[in-house]
Amino acid sequence: MGFHNGKVRSRQVRWCAAICWFFIAIFGTAASSSMEIVGRVPRVLILYPYDERIAATTEAGEAVRTRLLDVTGGKIDLFSEFLDLSRFPEREHLQRMARYLSAKYADRQPDVVIALGEESARFIVRNRGGLADHARIIFGGFSRATANDLKLPSDVIGAVSEFDILKTAELARRLQPEARHLYIIGGSADFDRAWLATARTDLAAFSKDYETTYLEDLTIDEFTRRAAELPRDSIVLALTIFKDSSGRNFIPREAIRQIAQTAGAPIYGPYPTYINYGVVGGNVVTFSSLGTTIADLVLDVIAGKEVSSVDSPQTYVVDARQLRRWGLSAADLPPGTVQMFKEKTFWEQYRYVIVAALAVITAQGVVIAGLLVERRRRRKAQVESHHRLLEVVHLNQSATAGALSASIAHELNQPLGAIRSNAEAAAVILRSKTPDLKLIEQILVDIQDDDQRAHDVISQMRSLLKKRGDIDCQTFDLNDVAANAIKILHGEALRRGVAVRANPLPRKLPVRADKVHVQQVILNLATNAMDAMLDVAACDRRLIVETALARGSKVELSISDTGRGIPDSQLTSVFEPFFTTKPTGTGLGLSIARAIVETYGGKIWAGNRPEGGAVFRVVLPLARGG
Ligand code: ADP
Repeated sequence: MGFHNGKVRSRQVRWCAAICWFFIAIFGTAASSSMEIVGRVPRVLILYPYDERIAATTEAGEAVRTRLLDVTGGKIDLFSEFLDLSRFPEREHLQRMARYLSAKYADRQPDVVIALGEESARFIVRNRGGLADHARIIFGGFSRATANDLKLPSDVIGAVSEFDILKTAELARRLQPEARHLYIIGGSADFDRAWLATARTDLAAFSKDYETTYLEDLTIDEFTRRAAELPRDSIVLALTIFKDSSGRNFIPREAIRQIAQTAGAPIYGPYPTYINYGVVGGNVVTFSSLGTTIADLVLDVIAGKEVSSVDSPQTYVVDARQLRRWGLSAADLPPGTVQMFKEKTFWEQYRYVIVAALAVITAQGVVIAGLLVERRRRRKAQVESHHRLLEVVHLNQSATAGALSASIAHELNQPLGAIRSNAEAAAVILRSKTPDLKLIEQILVDIQDDDQRAHDVISQMRSLLKKRGDIDCQTFDLNDVAANAIKILHGEALRRGVAVRANPLPRKLPVRADKVHVQQVILNLATNAMDAMLDVAACDRRLIVETALARGSKVELSISDTGRGIPDSQLTSVFEPFFTTKPTGTGLGLSIARAIVETYGGKIWAGNRPEGGAVFRVVLPLARGG
């Protein structure tokens, strides 16, 4: 069998072949004509026997093309013709094709015609005139015996394919050293019978080691049943089944597939087309190696070298899935065996994906580790900055307490003085003959109230001076804190003749922060405002504390005064640490205020009012639910 239905050697043809090749060898006619191509690239016509869907010929043809184009660097003119003889086997079609091709190639006759398969060879040899008058014909894809049967002219040479069943049998022996039985399967067509006869001769010595049975003259169902019953320690060699004993025609590999599906032992065959049809493998001529061999002959011809027919290289080819199916070891394969359908290992299959994934994971790991370190650093820095802030704010509070001490003392004096006067008045009343007990009771209530006032002043002072270990974040109403700050400043404002006006938005304004810190911001801004009004006439000193809603779920607190205002060039620099225009100033009040506000996600900025005086605005996020 060549590409389709070449013939195997029978004893008679073998003799013919020997004689024929003897003459060829003696007279050297196989290498007679040498080629001379001047001023153009060589033209090579590839003749395919069937249509372009027949894998065997197209695979060989592709291998020819690839090789020729590679070696010549593309400096070759390749033509392809598909004779379509499987669908149009009639004489008329052949004649029509011959006429058509002669006319087509009249002005561009090929230098070499490659005839793939027996039918192509027969066609071109018969119709050489007009189509390939001066061309060398090189065939491929059938056996030496078939070549002899075709009675090809002596200058027609090619790559011959021999199907050596013994080599396939040896492959089976290597894979199944424990096998005791040998079965040879062959069909009932002439070709099948000739093959069986050849196998009997070729396997004569080999089969002595086994209990050998030739499965022949069977129907396809009988083949299938018998194969299914075979003991596991059997070697099965499949030749061809073009026809079974009932006269039913087959494409051999289809018949082999049916048998192999339920066979009880591994099946081997000498054709590459059997691979993927259930056979383990065999010693075969692969179509690509055939193509390469033909192409090399063509190249030699074009180079003007002497050429003669060569054997296409045989290769052991196995189906790795069948090895697995039968538990055969790939280690027992002859060196150089091609394993088809070999499943790649996970590593082989996904090597690049794995490497890429590992690289990504590693990179991610590094980034994550970096981010964690960074986060830890940031946390540490945040904790440190909180402690700093606490300390700084505490110092700031102490300074404020110091600054307010005069007015606080004054505020304390007031209730204490009142208590004293009330106590003296009560003593006088008690010394009278008819003391007015109602009045004394009223005096005692007043004393209690004054005591409460004094207590409030002291606790405010204490809250300013109290040192805390950590920031105490809580949600509170900004209006409450503003009111409390105004209370603390009340005495000082009074002392300085500043009218303080609170203008709170009449609704709760929840803010999440440390209350004491926000209060300190208000105290800093308000004391600055009062400082700025020192030069203003006493009746014009006004301090306004307002709250309002701002865009984006925020609240705004503004503190404005009627002082001298801030030069535009200093509107931002006033927040820099140590910036001061006061003879005894520290330049820290505003920078601390900014640090506090930013800690709680807010902003602070300064501006000037159109009617004169400065305005400081603080914006803080409204707490959830606010
Ligand atoms: P200090 O009060 O110790 O100077 P601050 O940081 O509180 O430090 O203020 C920095 C400077 O900003 C003040 O010296 C003053 O020049 C200016 N400033 C602050 N508030 C006002 C204001 N309401 N009106 C005018 N200038 C102001």
